[in-house]
Amino acid sequence: MAQNPANVESEPKPVSAEETARTATTPGESRITPAAGSRQAIFDVDDVSVHYGEKLAIRNVTLDLYENEITALIGPSGCGKSTFIRCLNRMNDLIPSAKVAGSIGYHGENLYAENIDPVQVRKRIGMVFQKPNPFPKSIYDNIAFGPRVMGMKGNMDEIVESALRRGALWDEVKDRMQTNAFGMSGGQQQRLCIARALATSPDVLLMDEPCSALDPISTGRIEDLMDELKKDYSIVIVTHNMQQAARVSDMTAFFTVELSEDGKDRNGVVVEYAPTDKVFTNPEDKRTEDYVTGKVG
Ligand code: ADP
Repeated sequence: MAQNPANVESEPKPVSAEETARTATTPGESRITPAAGSRQAIFDVDDVSVHYGEKLAIRNVTLDLYENEITALIGPSGCGKSTFIRCLNRMNDLIPSAKVAGSIGYHGENLYAENIDPVQVRKRIGMVFQKPNPFPKSIYDNIAFGPRVMGMKGNMDEIVESALRRGALWDEVKDRMQTNAFGMSGGQQQRLCIARALATSPDVLLMDEPCSALDPISTGRIEDLMDELKKDYSIVIVTHNMQQAARVSDMTAFFTVELSEDGKDRNGVVVEYAPTDKVFTNPEDKRTEDYVTGKVG
């Protein structure tokens, strides 16, 4: 398949250099766009809100996410980071009570348009979760699974090797491809899951707390891998670990929970979205400062 999901034409959205970093003082009302030179927005998120049944989980999120960059989503538990990242590959479609409002452009096309097949979307926009979740199959079959289901053309051995190389795992597993993936260490299993996501030729990798179950050495390997992968992919990562966000990401969105307009509920909102060094060293909003300096958690 070409660069996009079925029926999605590639039309990268240029970002002018004049657009400057600013804070969403009124969440949802301002487009939060960072200073950008020749960067291309891959996702154009406009006024996105998500309900679970009656509950409004995230409110009026508007921001652009950029190609070949790592975007970190940070904020306290329950502020909607996972809900938001799941919007980006239509994973919320799988939760019956979830309803997504607003629009998300992906390469300039509406990700939620009726003619877009969510299954194709998830192949182009891969996802890795907190807990490594390999299939109870051989290492080889874990990687080959997606390409087989998709009927990908080409030599399967080469497809598998290429994905494992991109996942920085090839050298460790090339002599035991037929052994069960459950025999790998946690860190290896997570790199296997990354390689599995890469095997269907995505252009975006969504990572929802990919290192929170891993030891520091395995975490370091995943972070090095992310740095390598961003040359070819756009990455969005949810992390509770602020040092990790500061280390790996180019852009950071800080989410928090705010009282709803009628004061009866609490909703997730984006407080600030800017280049990572700005968010961590010179944030615009007091709430961001309190969070990144550890005054509130
Ligand atoms: P975070 O990832 O920042 O911890 P979540 O996106 O998991 O936040 O949750 C945001 C809000 O949405 C929370 O109030 C949570 O209870 C609610 N929520 C998340 N997932 C579901 C779900 N599947 N069904 C109902 N409510 C949910």
